[in-house]
Amino acid sequence: MNSQPAPPRVLAIDDEPFQLELLARQWRSLGVADVQTCSKGRGALELIGADPTRFDLICCDLQMPDMDGIEFVRHLGSSAYAGKLVLISGEDLRILNTAERLAGSHKLGVLGSLPKPVTREQLQAVLAALVDALASTARPAVKTVAASSYGSAEIERAIVEGELVNFYQPQVEFMTGQLVGVEALVRWQHPRDGLVYPDQFIGIAEESGLMNRLTQVVIAGPRGALRQARAWQDAGLTLQMSVNVSMETLTDCDFPDHLEREAAAAGVAPSTLMLEVTESRMMKDSLVALDILTRLRLKRVGVSIDDFGTGHSTFTQLHEAPFSELKIDRSFVHGAWRDPALRAIVLPTLDIARRLRIPTVAEGVEDADDWHFFRLAGCEIAQGYFVGRPMPAAAIGVWASTWNERRGELLDDCVALMRVPQANQDGLARVQA
Ligand code: C2E
Ligand code: MG
Ligand code: MG
Repeated sequence: MNSQPAPPRVLAIDDEPFQLELLARQWRSLGVADVQTCSKGRGALELIGADPTRFDLICCDLQMPDMDGIEFVRHLGSSAYAGKLVLISGEDLRILNTAERLAGSHKLGVLGSLPKPVTREQLQAVLAALVDALASTARPAVKTVAASSYGSAEIERAIVEGELVNFYQPQVEFMTGQLVGVEALVRWQHPRDGLVYPDQFIGIAEESGLMNRLTQVVIAGPRGALRQARAWQDAGLTLQMSVNVSMETLTDCDFPDHLEREAAAAGVAPSTLMLEVTESRMMKDSLVALDILTRLRLKRVGVSIDDFGTGHSTFTQLHEAPFSELKIDRSFVHGAWRDPALRAIVLPTLDIARRLRIPTVAEGVEDADDWHFFRLAGCEIAQGYFVGRPMPAAAIGVWASTWNERRGELLDDCVALMRVPQANQDGLARVQA
């Protein structure tokens, strides 16, 4: 990881010469010297085609007569560009948000969408996020491998050769800011391509029937979640360990007993485990899945409904299955404070979860506005880049000291801080040492 990233390079696209010039000036006034402007989407695509690594950020207007922003985003998504994107528009916020989501589904790194007129403060926030992304990203500067180019044999080899590693993303309590858990997120340390993200191999692993073996490595492998949980526990830090499981695992009736044995062997209480489930297929195979989920709950393993609100995870499932946690999908979290449509979905969801006494996690808390909104709305746990990115286990200690410095100012309720149990504070101190 770079400690001193190179200065960001920005490409601004807008058909309106005045707006374009204004935007370029705003960037320069924030100290971004390398700003290139382009009045047409097509021209911008040519520049990117010639050198996909030329820019770190593209700021694109949505309304352009030649090629509109949506079309531009579609082409950009199929190019080798791996930098970030910000969409700008004078349109209704919902159009802007939908455009942002479309860009996200084209696997573009969207830093946000901005209503016109763009303010200096908004650009400052984008710049901070960009600098942060450039400093912490381990992704290659070019999309080297298309999502479908890993074969099942290669993934199987990765499982066998121990090339899969878990990263851990912190989960903190909104009320106190205390670290209460982590989500294990698998990465592939590819010998040629570097760090490969799950969206590039989980789908193929699922299609090839490899998910049970992959899950086994993630949970109980030599560098798996259980051993890590035990190591933290030995250091005095008891954290909830969340792990994603796919449907294939929830059709394996031996899984609950198997997991119980693995947890016992590792010396980890089943109650500290949380299995995250997302699947539309859960409805289809619901009887077997329900059987397994219920037995897991009887063994005190937590079960979380992941990506809630996306259509895969619905109210019906919430009613039918014994979930002990609800994770609001990040597409409903970031920016909900300024988006009435998102709020109309999120607030009743929080209310229902409260009535069902199911704790909620807001996933995708990306900035202080998201933090304050969900904290005030009564959501229990925060997970997102604002708190911390997924990181190797060894980095949690350093993250925790930075977080401890930051969290004080995020809690208006000072008394809450005093309620933080001393045990975990001591544990953290030992992990950091
Ligand atoms: P998920 O379980 O919903 O995990 C959360 C994803 O959101 C992670 O992506 C995480 O890096 C990302 N994320 C967290 N905070 C933020 C934020 O503030 N902003 C944004 N834009 N993103 C944020 P990741 O690690 O790429 O994982 C993607 C998906 O891959 C996971 O979604 C999960 O469905 C799947 N996955 C990851 N590891 C495993 C695994 O071990 N087993 C299975 N079955 N699936 C896995
Ligand atoms: Mg998850
Ligand atoms: Mg999720």
